[in-house]
Amino acid sequence: MTTEKKSILIVEDEAQISRFLQLELEHENYACSICADGREALETALKNDFDLIILDVMLPSLNGIEILRRLRQVKQTPVIILTARDQVVDKVTGLDIGANDYMTKPFAIEELLARIRLHTKRPSSEVVAPVLVCGKLSVNPDARIATFDGHPIDLTKKEFDLLEFLMQNRNVVVSRERLLDSVWGFDFYGSTNVVDVYVRYLRSKIDDVYGVTLIETVRGAGYVIR
Ligand code: CA
Repeated sequence: MTTEKKSILIVEDEAQISRFLQLELEHENYACSICADGREALETALKNDFDLIILDVMLPSLNGIEILRRLRQVKQTPVIILTARDQVVDKVTGLDIGANDYMTKPFAIEELLARIRLHTKRPSSEVVAPVLVCGKLSVNPDARIATFDGHPIDLTKKEFDLLEFLMQNRNVVVSRERLLDSVWGFDFYGSTNVVDVYVRYLRSKIDDVYGVTLIETVRGAGYVIR
């Protein structure tokens, strides 16, 4: 059971609103930081790992949509956008570029708190397989999510299984036969070429997209992720 406070960044240039949010959130036992300036907010959001960001759209120096767009190139901190009433375009744009939720001002604090609870839920600490990390690649076996530099990689089941197995055996050269046995199963009927085919799929989705060499071919021996 974690007693660590969840941290929230409030990005809002209207002092009355940010003060109100801070009081309400601290009352709910969140740790709050406030930024009233767009550029400063982006910098703060990039430097720290907040559990959630409440993001106003109209801000000095850099607007909320632009902050979110730049933030999403690097990290997936949950973001709730605050928009003025009837700014439909902002809502749509915000969700398109990766906001997790939005609220229209004026908002009911109870509703905002409910959404914050929803988006800051941490996974239960029981029986959680460790997230496998290699450089910018991260593989979460429980959630079955793979990301590179924070960007989700869209993988089929077999591609994920293969990537997970290679990550579990990081720095170990794994033969095609062993990959076939472990990922496809002993009863797989077919040639080991299928391993090469799936390694190619993975490379096309990771190496080719991000310009890296993640899966190395070791001639005559197999494959390895280092
Ligand atoms: Ca504003």
